Amino acid sequence: MESLKKKKARARKILEILDPLYTKEKTALQYRTPFQLLIATILSAQCTDKQVNRVTPVLFEKYRGPEDYLKVPTARLEEDIRPTGFYKNKARSIRRCSQALLELYDGRVPGTMEELLKLPGVGRKTANCVLGAAFGVPGVVVDTHVKRLALRLGLTQKKDPDKIEMDLQALLPEENWRRFSDVLIYHGRAVCKARKPEHDRCAVMELCPSSAL
Ligand code: SF4
Repeated sequence: MESLKKKKARARKILEILDPLYTKEKTALQYRTPFQLLIATILSAQCTDKQVNRVTPVLFEKYRGPEDYLKVPTARLEEDIRPTGFYKNKARSIRRCSQALLELYDGRVPGTMEELLKLPGVGRKTANCVLGAAFGVPGVVVDTHVKRLALRLGLTQKKDPDKIEMDLQALLPEENWRRFSDVLIYHGRAVCKARKPEHDRCAVMELCPSSAL
């Protein structure tokens, strides 16, 4: 079994190789405030950032704060976010989250993991996304791409995203956490795709135990 020291060196090398290949974007979601980012992150479940960005300019103009999402009939909100898919669930999440923001934090988005996790529908992935992009707090975002790549690259054996997050955090210093999850996401979209990973054009093939599979 690979020692932690070797695994850390491999993770560092993977980051070194992938870092220059993908442009640095804080997040592809468009937002101006932490609250807007929170809403955009909820909308981004099972939806591309591009599609979310098509909907949010009008949405954010119309709904300025959490109270605005509670004022309108649910059907209206559902219609406004419909192009992002799963709009009934997302409308419910946005309204419950808005309600909790008002009740718990005076309508402001809190800047700690502990507080964010008290909001309905906000898991560690969403919280890390908001903390990293809006508050500059280090964190590993474990979405479907990061989960898949971490397993294929042999950086974790776990299936649970919270445990994967801990495993990845143990491999790199905290200033690299965010960037590491970002490059894994980009690499997952571009090369190490879910159905057919393109080993032959993969820049980290030599560091990957799944390259021969
Ligand atoms: S070698 Fe294949 S499995 Fe490994 S990271 Fe690259 S594309 Fe993914």
